Amino acid sequence: MERFADIVLPLAQPAYTFAVPEGMEVAEGQAVVVQFGLRKYYTGIVWRLHGERPSFKNIKSVLRPLYDRPLLDTGQRALWEWVASYYMCTVGEVMRVALPALMKPSADSEQEFLREEYRPRTERYIALAPALREEEHFHEVCDKLERRAPKQYEALLEIATAGDETRISTGEVARRLLRADYAVLQALERKGYLVATERERTVERGGSAFRLPELSPAQRQALDALDAAFAGGKSTALLHGITGSGKTEIYIHLIARVLARGGDVLLLVPEIALTAQLIARMERIFGSRVTPYHSKLTAQRRTETYLRLNRAQGGEFVVGVRSSIFLPLRRLQLIVVDEEHDASYKQSDPAPRYNARDCAVVMARLSGGHTLLGSATPSLETWLNARGGKYGLATLSQRYGAARPPEILISDTLRAARRGERKAHFNKLLLDRLGETLDRGEQAMLFQNRRGFSPYVECSQCGWTARCPNCNVTLTYHKSSGRLVCHYCGHNEEVPAKCPSCRVTDVVPMGFGTEKIEEEIARIFPEARVARLDRDSITSERAFSAIVADFEARKTDILVGTQMITKGFDFGGVSLVGILNADNLVNSPDFRAAERAFQLMMQVAGRAGRRAEGGVVVIQTAEPGHPVIRQVAAGDYEAMARTQLAERQAFFYPPYARLISLTLRHRDAAILRQGVGDLAVRLRSRFGRRVLGPMAPPVDRIRGEYLVGLLLKIESGASAARARELLAAELKTFSARAEYRNIVVSVNVDPQ
Ligand code: ADP
Ligand code: ZN
Ligand code: ZN
Repeated sequence: MERFADIVLPLAQPAYTFAVPEGMEVAEGQAVVVQFGLRKYYTGIVWRLHGERPSFKNIKSVLRPLYDRPLLDTGQRALWEWVASYYMCTVGEVMRVALPALMKPSADSEQEFLREEYRPRTERYIALAPALREEEHFHEVCDKLERRAPKQYEALLEIATAGDETRISTGEVARRLLRADYAVLQALERKGYLVATERERTVERGGSAFRLPELSPAQRQALDALDAAFAGGKSTALLHGITGSGKTEIYIHLIARVLARGGDVLLLVPEIALTAQLIARMERIFGSRVTPYHSKLTAQRRTETYLRLNRAQGGEFVVGVRSSIFLPLRRLQLIVVDEEHDASYKQSDPAPRYNARDCAVVMARLSGGHTLLGSATPSLETWLNARGGKYGLATLSQRYGAARPPEILISDTLRAARRGERKAHFNKLLLDRLGETLDRGEQAMLFQNRRGFSPYVECSQCGWTARCPNCNVTLTYHKSSGRLVCHYCGHNEEVPAKCPSCRVTDVVPMGFGTEKIEEEIARIFPEARVARLDRDSITSERAFSAIVADFEARKTDILVGTQMITKGFDFGGVSLVGILNADNLVNSPDFRAAERAFQLMMQVAGRAGRRAEGGVVVIQTAEPGHPVIRQVAAGDYEAMARTQLAERQAFFYPPYARLISLTLRHRDAAILRQGVGDLAVRLRSRFGRRVLGPMAPPVDRIRGEYLVGLLLKIESGASAARARELLAAELKTFSARAEYRNIVVSVNVDPQ
């Protein structure tokens, strides 16, 4: 019978059918080499084996299988398929992020695969032959050996007591267990008393008795609440605990339990470079059980890790970034998503534009495992699910031990300016505190968010900012057109000549960056050692580590930085944190601005006074009465969530609606305008008022191409799947039109 295989290639293409030559052994989920296109060779994944001859001519054959076993099991294939269908991309695009780069090469010749196929290093393992596991037979053999070959007898006894398999390191006997030498073992093997196997090298495994931190009563209570939620049938739970409350300790307890019973654990972290401390902490408890997985590892290491896990027998613990969700953890029982609100769990470009946190939730539901989401400031999506009872919920509202939450001071920049109490970008209050901190020999962090290059406009007199009449977001100043634009509905207007609120002054584009702050602070405190941490200052991984290490070792006094300084760090010497321009955060043109501002400020604030002394946070703002600023000052997450959820509901935004954003790109602005217009009409005929736009994205021309956006707002629930189907059909029709063939459309489901 003829055999065919539908093969997924690492391309934005559907699976393609190849013939399987007679006698070739391939399985579903296995990697194979195929030729596709004129002269290109690819690694593909066998998705489905069947006997249905495709209708096209010139069916090519699978050239050869790669690796000795499938790279994906059915659970992983289900995940890939879910990602492709939910995020509206091809399974091939999922393959591009899911497999380490070395395992999915394309090449110009078949031979290149031979060179590139990664072969793991192997080791020999020995174990008692199965026949000897029977006690009677074992004693018989022992009696015989004891008389004739005492050395072999001793070795056999030792192997039997060791129980499990025993590893022999290259050529010599593992000294830890065996005093026998190699020849003795060989003799035993020859006689069939031992079996030796050649296996991939694995890391040294400790036992499963981990030294766990003693939990405080509050932590114990939270752990019990999580246990109860999971036992009660919830597959996902939220651990809502303020910074320093000891969420990590609770993770550790849950993780240890799963590992001890041979299950696998995945701990997702936002960005590995910033969570080096978390890995180190996990390693102190779990030792070499910890397998890190992130983009800073060499391609070789990533491949090695994938292949090792693919053969592992359970009890694996991976700490990794979002793409680790695709690792072959076959006995995955627990996924912990730390800082679940973090936007870096979402890949925005290129496809698959997936959110690893949401994948984790789906996986728990599919596999019967558990997912724990941890955060001091949960995303509103998660919060709503937890409050609504869809997720379990446990809360930690006190810092662990003697540590107290920092004192948060609001400093009014306009008032300071009026009183002449402002120097450069600093209010006197902040400078005074900074001076005292330095005098005490303590450290400070100054936070200035300057993401992207989209300054907003503000009245320097009264603090007025331009807002969209339809969307409840601030308008962005577009320098090229000189207009104020809404990034959500496309509304745009002229920059007012005079401030419409106080009619006194001009409105001006605002914005200043970390670099300027660094320079200014060094001038004001010439004796202080100042360093800066942002995307510009970290030219390499080493530069990053050096800046962090110097600050940790107190070789620098003041660290100025962007949100990079907010994550995961636990610097003992920091007693003051300054947030230079909170308005910048609160007024960013995004319906999530308030939520994000709250999360970011709470996270920055959490860096202050990690030790018992207590810390101070100074927030500079032109709007001290702004609800978000007041909620931060009070540390009141629930108040923030309440106000924001009410607004989201009123304006029909997530978590009450689902968003799908479309971005169209083309070199010719006229063709693009026409195309997006046509598409908008088609979509409106299907979706009516759920379609917004066309609108200009924040950056509407990139590398010579024009960009334009459309936004779909869809009711949550079952209709979302139907909407994706309809949308996919419309996009297919659109792309098939000759005049629009070269317009690239990217789809982003649940954009961040
Ligand atoms: P979170 O992750 O919630 O911000 P951490 O887990 O980092 O909080 O805990 C804050 C600090 O308190 C850490 O230095 C941690 O080691 C310490 N800590 C928390 N709980 C315990 C505990 N049960 N035993 C010992 N130290 C603890
Ligand atoms: Zn708008
Ligand atoms: Zn004004």
